[in-house]
Amino acid sequence: MAGRASGIRGPARAAFCLLRAPGPPIGCGNCAPVLRSALIFLVAIFLPSLVLGWLALRAAGEQNILIERQAADLHQAQTDAIAADLRQAVEQQQAAFVELVRQLVAAYGAEAVAENFGARLADGWKPGGVPFAISPRGALVYPSIAQARSEETVAAFLEGNRSFLSNAAPAEIYQLPQSAAPPTKNTQSKSLLSSMDWVTRSSAKSKDTSAQQAAARNISPQKGYDDTEPAASSKIAPELSNFQTAIAGAPQGIMARFVQDELQVLFWTKPEARSEWLFGVMLTPRQMQEMIAPAFDQLESMGEHIAILNDRSRPVLRLPGEFPADWKHPFVATEIGEVLPHWEVALYLANPGALTSSARLVSITLVLLIMLALGAILAGAYFVSADIRRQLATVQKKTDFVSNVSHELKTPLTSIRMFAELLAGGKVTEPEKQSRYLRIIAAESERLTRLVNNVLDFARMERKRKVYDMREVDLHHAIARLWEVESTRLREAGFSMAWDAAAGPYRVVCDADAITQVLVNLFSNAEKYAASGREITLCTRMEPREFIAEVKDRGPGIPRAQEEKVFEAFHRVDDSLTSGVQGSGLGLTLARRIIRDHGGDLFVRAREGGGSSFVLRLPRKPVDHL
Ligand code: ADP
Repeated sequence: MAGRASGIRGPARAAFCLLRAPGPPIGCGNCAPVLRSALIFLVAIFLPSLVLGWLALRAAGEQNILIERQAADLHQAQTDAIAADLRQAVEQQQAAFVELVRQLVAAYGAEAVAENFGARLADGWKPGGVPFAISPRGALVYPSIAQARSEETVAAFLEGNRSFLSNAAPAEIYQLPQSAAPPTKNTQSKSLLSSMDWVTRSSAKSKDTSAQQAAARNISPQKGYDDTEPAASSKIAPELSNFQTAIAGAPQGIMARFVQDELQVLFWTKPEARSEWLFGVMLTPRQMQEMIAPAFDQLESMGEHIAILNDRSRPVLRLPGEFPADWKHPFVATEIGEVLPHWEVALYLANPGALTSSARLVSITLVLLIMLALGAILAGAYFVSADIRRQLATVQKKTDFVSNVSHELKTPLTSIRMFAELLAGGKVTEPEKQSRYLRIIAAESERLTRLVNNVLDFARMERKRKVYDMREVDLHHAIARLWEVESTRLREAGFSMAWDAAAGPYRVVCDADAITQVLVNLFSNAEKYAASGREITLCTRMEPREFIAEVKDRGPGIPRAQEEKVFEAFHRVDDSLTSGVQGSGLGLTLARRIIRDHGGDLFVRAREGGGSSFVLRLPRKPVDHL
């Protein structure tokens, strides 16, 4: 069988080896079903499993992105809401300013208020800043040059704003596009906004809103600002405009601009009663920070770190308490808007590792589950295929057994019939020849009987119906009788025979016939597989607790890897030296079973100098006879 397999070369041989059972060699007639099963497994189970595994792995990867996206969306909504709250706080202060100016103008008249606007405003206006007033002719009537001499802030204000507020020069200003409603958080802020048009409208601005270039943001959040815009570009941009153009058509507003890189926020109003006058107040970043601080302090951070970054990306307000961060790289951020250009509400994850580790945990769990499923499929397939191969091997052995037994039955029957016919025909007259033919007939009948006995005994043992006649016997005596018959026969067949026997008797409780049958099988094998080494030695001795017999030959021996397998039913060593010999593969199986049924053991080991040595150990009394 292996001979046929060894004829295969190249990849086909590799496939053969791969599929070959770890047991006895299988004929190539069996390769086809095994290959077919392997192919079915590959196409119907393994490949679909791999595809499913791959899809699941991809899903696991996407799951990570989804988890991060969800967290980003959640936090983005949080910073959006905070930005809206802060805008609302600024709007409320603007509304308060408008109301205050209205009351002052109603009480004292526009001219009187403008003349001494700072002092009039001081009582009711807490945020501070530099108040200013512009006359119906567009002249900056407050603060005066005289004030600038005594107050540094006023001097700086006039230097930076005089020409712009007097409409002498245009400037880059920030204000919301007319079309876009300011972001609101609740109905209160909505109604407030609808009642006051806080945004300065500018015709120049509405013209080219769409053409605005997305300005770069000072910071780059790790996650998207929104889906349509890159995280690093700003949603707000300055417009170059004249002051009068910017305020035209609106009764009040907020305007922001950078003067020498310093942010200035202007609240302004044209009081309803005297709308040709314009009153305003210029606020510094510090004053704006104080304006939004109460609203910010009321916020809840929900476990993460939140900071308000100014236009230089420095934190001006933080929640909860002080915390360090890579300020330019928040997790998400929202620009507060035109009222505080380039100021951002930035959120930093309190535990940045938690998000990635939970995402990683999800994917590791998924990967492990997939691998477990694939592993289970592969292991299942391996066991199923190993079982199929084992069954195929058994089927093969049984097929071989039937053909071997038929052959073994036929050979002695043919000789018996031939010699019987010769004798019956009366043609053989010489008495010597007659007795030789009769001895052959007797020996062949014995061989036949042995074979039939082996098969019957095996069948009985399979059905557990073998009954032993246990009694105390002298095995030395029983073996001596057997030795006489066997040694004579084997010597005649050209064997050199030796019995190395320790002195008897060997008193053992056993079924003497069964033990003799074992020895007959061992002699028969030593004879069958002798090849050129025609020498058999029997050693027997009695030890205190057991009887030991060894049948040694000088045949080809049994490969170490086969030493246990030769005791399996139907197993025959597929060796060039033994494969030519007929046999059923049952002799050693039966022999070991008989000995083990007696509580002993039978095994084989290599004989020193070549050949095999079968060792039989039999307890003086089987355990259930003690
Ligand atoms: P059978 O001899 O009918 O094939 P056995 O069960 O007696 O069955 O032996 C099993 C196999 O063990 C044999 O086919 C043979 O290959 C190997 N074997 C048994 N005895 C010997 C021996 N003395 N020397 C070499 N090989 C042996």
